[in-house]
Amino acid sequence: MTIVSSPDRNWLAEIHPTVREAQPSGIVEVFDYGRGRQGLIPLWVGEGDLPPPASVSEAVKASLDRGETFYTAQAGIPPLREAIAAYMTRVYGVAPGGGAFNPESFFVTIGGMHAIEIATRLTLGPGDEALIPSPAWPNFVGAIETSGARAVPVPLGRVGRWSLDPNRLADAVTPATKVIFLNSPANPTGFIATREEIAATLALARERGLWIVADEIYGRLTYDGARAPSFHDVMALDDKILFVQTLSKNWAMTGFRVGWLEAPPALGPVIENLVQFTTSGVPVFTQRAAIAALNDGESFLSSQIERFRRSRDILCDGLAATGRVRFCEPEAAFYLFFQVDGFPDSRALALRLIDEAGVGAAPGSAFGPGGEGHLRICFARDPTQIEEATRRILRWLKK
Ligand code: PMP
Repeated sequence: MTIVSSPDRNWLAEIHPTVREAQPSGIVEVFDYGRGRQGLIPLWVGEGDLPPPASVSEAVKASLDRGETFYTAQAGIPPLREAIAAYMTRVYGVAPGGGAFNPESFFVTIGGMHAIEIATRLTLGPGDEALIPSPAWPNFVGAIETSGARAVPVPLGRVGRWSLDPNRLADAVTPATKVIFLNSPANPTGFIATREEIAATLALARERGLWIVADEIYGRLTYDGARAPSFHDVMALDDKILFVQTLSKNWAMTGFRVGWLEAPPALGPVIENLVQFTTSGVPVFTQRAAIAALNDGESFLSSQIERFRRSRDILCDGLAATGRVRFCEPEAAFYLFFQVDGFPDSRALALRLIDEAGVGAAPGSAFGPGGEGHLRICFARDPTQIEEATRRILRWLKK
C-alpha cells in the first residue's frame, strides 16, 4: 500500500517562517512561463551559449580517469588555492597589506552563490540588517532573508550613469546594520562603481564597523579594456571585506558550479565548518577544471569579451534607434537593463514579449526597488542571435 499525505495537510505551515516567507525569484517565474517555447530566444538568465575552453573539459575527464571521485579538503584542493592566488596576483597586483596573494585567503565554493551564502552566514543573523544598492540581483536578498536577517535596499542614483551615493548608504545604516553588499560591476545594471565610490563605501564601513561583501564576479568583463576598480585597490590588510568570485561567467562554466570566497585566513576553520555543514566540499574534478581555466583561460576570456561587445552594440544601437527605449549603456557584464516607454509593468511586458515577440527577458521588478519598469536582457550570446532578438523586439514595438 502506498501511503500518501492527506491533501488537506498544510505543509507550508509546518516549516520555518523565514524560509516560507522568502520571495521567489521573479526571474524564475517568467522563465517557467516561457520555458520550452518553440523558437523562443532565451535571454533571461545570466549565461551564454558557448561551452568552456577545451582544456577545462579535458581537465575534468583526466581527473575522473585518475579516480578523483572522493571527499576532499573543505577549503579546496591546494593546487587550486595556489592557482587562484597566482591569478589574483596577476590581475590585481599586490595583495592587501602588500606582496603576492596568499593561497590561504581563498576558499573554494560551489559557485559564487555558495560564496554569498557563506559570507551571509559569517556576517548576519536574525534581526540584523544588510544594505544592498538596488536594483540588485535577487539572490542577495534571498540569501540574507533566509538567514533571518533583513535586506535593506538603497537606491542607486541615475544621472547619465548609474551611481552610488555614499550619503544614501550612510543614511540607511541603523544599529542593526552589519554589512554592505556591493556588487560591482553589477547585475542587472552593468554599473561599475568608480574607485571613489568604492573608497567612500569602505570609509563608511570603517567608520560604522560594518563588513563589506564585495561581489566582483564581473570585474574582468568590461568594455574599456581594463578590469573594473576593486576593493583590492583601496583596502588595508585589516579591512573587514569578504570577496565573492566565480569561474561561471569569465570561462562559460555556469554548470560546473565552482567559485571562491576570499576572506582573512584566520577565518579558515570557521569557513571550513560552514562548507562542511552546507555542501561538504566541491568535487575535485570541477576544481581541476577551475585550475585549467585560471591558468590557460586568458585568450578565451578576451574572445568572449569581444563577442559580448558586438552583441551589446547590436542590441543597444537597435533599441536606441526606436526612440522609445531608455537605458544607460552597460559598461561591464553582459546585461542590458532598459525601459520601454508606456510599459510600466515589467512582469506583464516580459510575459507579452514571450507570447508575442518570441524573446525571453527578465522583468525588472525581480531586481527590487528601482527595477520596476525595466527589462533585463542577457546579451552573452552569438551576435547573430542577438541581432534576430533585436529585430523581433523592434517589430513588436512597431505593432
Ligand atoms: N553574483 C552575481 C552578481 C551574479 O550575477 C551571479 C550569477 N548570476 C552570481 C553571483 C552567482 O554565480 P554562480 O553561477 O557562480 O553561482
